[in-house]
Amino acid sequence: TEKYDAALEKSRDSFGARLNKLFANFRTVDEDFFDDLEETLIGADVGFETAVRITDELRDEVKLRNVHDSNAVARVIVQKLVDLYGESGKDEDNSLHFAEEGPTVFLFVGVNGAGKTTTIGKLANRLHKEGKSVLLAAADTFRAGAIQQLQVWGERDDVPVVAGPEGGDPAAVVYDAVVRAKKENTDVLIVDTAGRLQNKVNLMNELAKIKRVIQRELPDQPAEVLLVVDGTTGQNALSQAKEFNQTTEMTGLVLTKLDGSGKGGIVLAVRNELHVPVKLVGLGEGIDDLADFEPTKFVYGLFK
Ligand code: GDP
Repeated sequence: TEKYDAALEKSRDSFGARLNKLFANFRTVDEDFFDDLEETLIGADVGFETAVRITDELRDEVKLRNVHDSNAVARVIVQKLVDLYGESGKDEDNSLHFAEEGPTVFLFVGVNGAGKTTTIGKLANRLHKEGKSVLLAAADTFRAGAIQQLQVWGERDDVPVVAGPEGGDPAAVVYDAVVRAKKENTDVLIVDTAGRLQNKVNLMNELAKIKRVIQRELPDQPAEVLLVVDGTTGQNALSQAKEFNQTTEMTGLVLTKLDGSGKGGIVLAVRNELHVPVKLVGLGEGIDDLADFEPTKFVYGLFK
């Protein structure tokens, strides 16, 4: 929790500070104010559509309720963000899903450098500590060093890793891993994949093949297809997420590097433009720097 707060400090600095500055400077709630607000929200990476929508709704509300006082307007904005983020607005499920019986499979996707392997390492450690048996599959056979990196995490976490040769067929690795998970009755199999977004057709085919291989052995899996995005890349993270969503249907997002980010608004953007819940957040490079995403806490954190 402390880490969570510390990480949000930075988001707050930019997002909250920008809003605070906006309120400190305005005298009347006029069109200029709404223009500034819209710009501030866009700057904080809440996403263009969301920024426009919040501003429009606020404009209506200010008119309707005849609000003039800046504190009251600020409160309305925070409430709007809480509604957008929070469970109250949508019945969003931010928790990871597990199979009721037999192995659960989590498939991780995302571009190189987003933090997939690191997140898998942290998650495997957490699940292992909870007493679950975990198996990792090194199906990112494309990026040099990815297999070894996952193996290092496997050793750290004390969980086994199924791997093949670099440049090999990722689906073959996944097949071996699924068969082993079934045989050993592993609780959770976590699959790392390559993130070549430059070649969308290949990526799509590869992910589809991996899914087929999983489903042939375990018809109800993968329980989660988690897209990992680098939170520091702001709007770029959003467009990346959109592109990935076209290649494979995802069940959740992992937002990494929020510890170094002033872009807390991006969580809102992906949620509202992709309709995919954020399930985990990365708060650092360490083994314990992974947290569940708590929407309401997150938004209050931005304005605390
Ligand atoms: P992959 O290519 O998607 O597997 O990405 P990696 O897991 O190799 O991560 C890329 C870099 O980002 C590594 O240097 C990680 O240590 C770093 N990284 C991953 N997650 C986080 C995070 O939550 N916070 C910070 N500060 N760094 C992270």
